[in-house]
Amino acid sequence: MGGRSVRGKVAQTTRVRHDRDVNMKTLPVVGRGLNRVALLSVHTSPLDQPGIGDAGGLNVYVVELSKRLAQAGVEVDVFTRTTRGGMPPTVAVADGVTVHHVPSGPLQGIDKNDLPAHLCALTAGVLRAEASRAVGWYDLVHSHYWLSGHVGSVASERWNVPLVHSMHTMAKVKNSRLAVGDTPEPHMRVVGEQQVVDSADWLVANTKDEADDLVQLYGADPQRVSVVHPGVDLQVFTPGSQSKARATHGIAEDAQMILFVGRIQPLKAPDVVIRSAARLVERDPQLRTNLVVVICGGPSGAGPERLDELRQLAQHLGIADLVRFEPPADRHELADWYRAADVVCVPSHSESFGLVAVEAQACATPVVAAAVGGLRTAVDDGVSGLLVDGHHANDWADVIAPLLDSKRALASLARGARKHAENFGWSATAASTIEAYRQASHEHALNQPAGVRLAAGGRSSA
Ligand code: UDP
Repeated sequence: MGGRSVRGKVAQTTRVRHDRDVNMKTLPVVGRGLNRVALLSVHTSPLDQPGIGDAGGLNVYVVELSKRLAQAGVEVDVFTRTTRGGMPPTVAVADGVTVHHVPSGPLQGIDKNDLPAHLCALTAGVLRAEASRAVGWYDLVHSHYWLSGHVGSVASERWNVPLVHSMHTMAKVKNSRLAVGDTPEPHMRVVGEQQVVDSADWLVANTKDEADDLVQLYGADPQRVSVVHPGVDLQVFTPGSQSKARATHGIAEDAQMILFVGRIQPLKAPDVVIRSAARLVERDPQLRTNLVVVICGGPSGAGPERLDELRQLAQHLGIADLVRFEPPADRHELADWYRAADVVCVPSHSESFGLVAVEAQACATPVVAAAVGGLRTAVDDGVSGLLVDGHHANDWADVIAPLLDSKRALASLARGARKHAENFGWSATAASTIEAYRQASHEHALNQPAGVRLAAGGRSSA
């Protein structure tokens, strides 16, 4: 860890808080410009297919944010781990966005929980990459997920630039809402997250709920947390013909279709969808003729046994013939899956935002989601979808059944769904992130010893 003094920071904050009563936009950025950012995504590569293993919303977030930052004039270098032989050292993802593969530890077979042992090598690789550039190459470090925060902490201190951190998920939150039989996050992660919160100049939270968790559970300074909603690609995820989408995926035109999309792990609770479907059929045996449940995604956190367990569950509940398992789909295929569905279910036990919920709504498909964490922001209850308390199949069936029964109710939510999703474009995410960068830069500059601050203040700012 970088080991910056927490005590010093609190003292600084008292002084800065007074300044912040002024609109930040009117403040000059005391410090360097914002031309180039090192973005750290240690445990998963933005180039990986989301929806399986450790690749999910964070991967999508990193790619989309980086592209939009570059479009806004901030060049982005993304650093991630080399996980296969023969990977090129760098990959240009878009204009102004380059992914760097940093060798650290064995290429394959490392579990996410074993990665802390390899952070030293990874940090060295990131520092080496910067050292080959002109002095002052990066203006800021933005780390994603706690493992990256540790690398970011060292890099930001070495380069004397601000560290902005996005947690995405937090061990304390996950552990407080574990699914039955799920494994708690290790204590090491809780401690590691605390260190990152203490050492970052600025934190970015996906929702107000996440910001509150950072403050209440990790003692973050509320004045140094920005709430920035993730986005959705409103050009890819668009409303479209349901029958065409169904034809693409081989779903009958008259089917009543429930869709789950995401990594197959207890936290995401795909079993709740299967149990609820069984309850629906029990209550209305007629549904057996046309109900289709699609589970799209790959196993995460364990091997293929997770999928086997779900298959067995469907078998046990007598609805195996109604449930279809689909491998992870790319963005365009996924858009068609959303369009094909009558309802998309997101029954997660905890969720820092829930991109799947917003993507489905962008395709004008209503969402039934658990009333937890970021899903309460991602879904406008009663307008774009419905929120359900708890995870009992009966409660979920109570909410889904009337929707499947009423084309009118579905159509009304579908209209609200697209409208609600339009609040979450990635360009808005990038604009708010740049604002957070400015605030972090300001904070960082104010924390410099007087001489350094004066010198930094003399440089141009973006
Ligand atoms: N995803 C995908 N293909 C799949 C399943 C999921 O591309 O087959 C993507 C999905 O579109 C979404 C992300 O994975 O962007 C999942 O993000 P979410 O926030 O819902 O959950 P997370 O994986 O971050 O827990």
